[in-house]
Amino acid sequence: GKIIETSEIKKTYVMGAEEVKALKSVSIEINKGEYVAFMGPSGSGKSTLMNIIGCLDTPTAGTYILNNKDVSDMSENELAEIRNKEIGFVFQTFNLLPRATCLENVALPLIYAGYNKSDREDKAFMALKSVGLEDRVNHKPNELSGGQRQRVAIARALVNDPSIILADEPTGNLDTKTSYDIMSLFHELHQKGNTIIMVTHEDDIAHYAHRIVRLRDGLVETDEINPNPTTNN
Ligand code: ADP
Ligand code: ADP
Repeated sequence: GKIIETSEIKKTYVMGAEEVKALKSVSIEINKGEYVAFMGPSGSGKSTLMNIIGCLDTPTAGTYILNNKDVSDMSENELAEIRNKEIGFVFQTFNLLPRATCLENVALPLIYAGYNKSDREDKAFMALKSVGLEDRVNHKPNELSGGQRQRVAIARALVNDPSIILADEPTGNLDTKTSYDIMSLFHELHQKGNTIIMVTHEDDIAHYAHRIVRLRDGLVETDEINPNPTTNN
């Protein structure tokens, strides 16, 4: 079934007398379990669209239905709740807390979700195990390689069992081999049924996705199935 449906969403930023039409009219449907890459030149609206899909921001016009709920006009508090439940975020810069261990970093979203400490630790451990880091639970981020840090961030994104994983340039700070390792992990997550949307400007990374959407000047330029996605196998 459909998990995301945007209908003619627009986003206009007003800065003094100037208006920037970051999204002019974007209608896009994504089904549960899809693996989609957003591409497009700098300034084409990728981050704006990801922010709206991730409920970090709302559109100026149009509707956004997430998991059968209209989130277009929700308040900041309602959006925060939806985000915690539905979205796992992965960033280019990992965004880990430097003084916290891997286990503590991964357990963080569970505090907001209201789990007790022992459940948080159990779930965080399982998430770290699922990304192959069960022997790094007590390490701090600076004791890990870049690839391992991103895997911790992915474990944190997965720990709440979100409906969607949103990854903004997840390999942007990684060397080529490590990038492919992270893409292997995404491939596995997709095989397990996760819905993944990632932004990338790298063709070889986008080629792991099963569908590639290209934005240009705030519009969808092309939206194509990738007939032969990379798998690393
Ligand atoms: P991309 O991620 O593809 O580089 P963005 O969504 O970041 O594109 O930006 C689309 C357009 O909106 C750009 O012209 C950018 O300058 C503008 N923009 C993005 N965020 C803001 C903001 N918070 N305030 C004003 N303009 C913005
Ligand atoms: P990856 O292939 O995941 O990027 P590396 O090849 O960079 O990992 O690292 C190999 C091993 O070295 C890993 O098991 C990691 O724990 C360890 N390691 C890497 N950087 C550090 C560090 N700064 N401090 C301690 N151990 C490290």
